[in-house]
Amino acid sequence: MHEYSIVMSLMEQCESLAQQHQAQGIEQVELKIGILSGVEPALLAQAFETFKLETICHNAKLVMNIQPLVLQCRDCDQQSQVDERTIICPICTSNNTLVIDGEDMMLMQLVLDT
Ligand SMILES: [Zn+2]
Repeated sequence: MHEYSIVMSLMEQCESLAQQHQAQGIEQVELKIGILSGVEPALLAQAFETFKLETICHNAKLVMNIQPLVLQCRDCDQQSQVDERTIICPICTSNNTLVIDGEDMMLMQLVLDT
């Protein structure tokens, strides 16, 4: 499953960051999940709870911030936040847009237990 490999690389990232900061553990893992990232938050949470037991994240709480899509329109020059998966500018209905945010998943913050 896609989410399992994401969580595994996330855990590796957490472990190396914890090592760098000589932390005893990790209290909280905060993620940003773009709605176009293809990541299913419920599946990700489930994978996190399963995998964390074996890792430094075993006491960590997972916080997921869902990032809506942000479009920059090249025609009317407006930036809009949209909740659906679309590339149509909601202001002028142009499809000449650029996706600014909402496409990626990233680690925003780790709360370390030192
Ligand atoms: Zn527009």
